Amino acid sequence: MNNTENDKRAVISTVIRYALISVAAAILCFALGRLALGLGDRGRDADAAPGGDRVRVVIDAGHGGEDGGTSGSDGTVEKDVNLKIALIVRDILASNGVGVVMTREDDRLLYDAYGDLSDYAGKKKVYDLRNRLRIAEEHPGAALVSIHMNAFSGKQYSGLQVYYSPNDAESARLAGLVQSTVRSYIQPDNDRETKRAGSSIYLLNRIKSPAVLIECGFLSNAEECGKLNDPAYCQALALAISSAIMEFIATA
Ligand SMILES: [Zn+2]
Repeated sequence: MNNTENDKRAVISTVIRYALISVAAAILCFALGRLALGLGDRGRDADAAPGGDRVRVVIDAGHGGEDGGTSGSDGTVEKDVNLKIALIVRDILASNGVGVVMTREDDRLLYDAYGDLSDYAGKKKVYDLRNRLRIAEEHPGAALVSIHMNAFSGKQYSGLQVYYSPNDAESARLAGLVQSTVRSYIQPDNDRETKRAGSSIYLLNRIKSPAVLIECGFLSNAEECGKLNDPAYCQALALAISSAIMEFIATA
C-alpha cells in the first residue's frame, strides 16, 4: 500500500471517528438533558421547573478584543477558538433546556461592561477579569465553565486538561466529569489529571460557585491546532463538554 492510500485511509477513518463521536455524544446529551430536566422515565412532571428559566451554567470564552490569548504558528488565535467552542456549548445546553448565560458572545474584552471608569488605560485586563467574575456572581450557584486554549514551549505536548476552583468541593467533580468524558469520546490516550487551580487563575481563585477552566488543547502543537480548526472536531469537543456539564447538573 502506498503513502497516498495510507493518507486516504487515515482521513476517512478520522471523518468516521468524528461522526461516530458526534452521534454518541448527541445521544448522551439528549439522555442527560432529560435527566437534568427531571424528565427521566417518568414523563413530564407537572411540578418541574420549566427548563432554562434558572441559569445553571455561565460559559466564559476566555480573552477577546485586544487580548488574543495564545496563538498557533499558523496564525490561529486563542480568543477565536475559545468563542467558537463556547458558542456551541451554549447552544447544546440551551437546546437541552439548561439555562445558560455567556460572559461574551462576540470578539471583545469586558473591562467596560459595568462602566466603572471613564479611562481604562493600563487597567483593561484587570477590569476584564473582574467583570467576568461579576457576571458569574450575578447567578449564584450556577457553575462557571471558562474555555481556553493552551500553549507550551515543548511543541510535542497535547491534550485537554481541566483546572478546578479550590473554593467549592463540586468544582473538582465537574472537572473530573469533563476530563473523563473527553477521554472516553475523543482522546483515549489523554492521561492528564485534573488540577486544582493556583492563585494565578483569577476567576477560579475568587469565585465561590463550582467553577472549572478547560484548557481545550495546545495551539503550540501543530496537529492539535489543526484539529481545533476543524468544525467537526470542535463540535465533538463541545458535545463532550456539554454532556459532562449536564451529567454534573443531573447528579448534583
Ligand atoms: Zn487563555
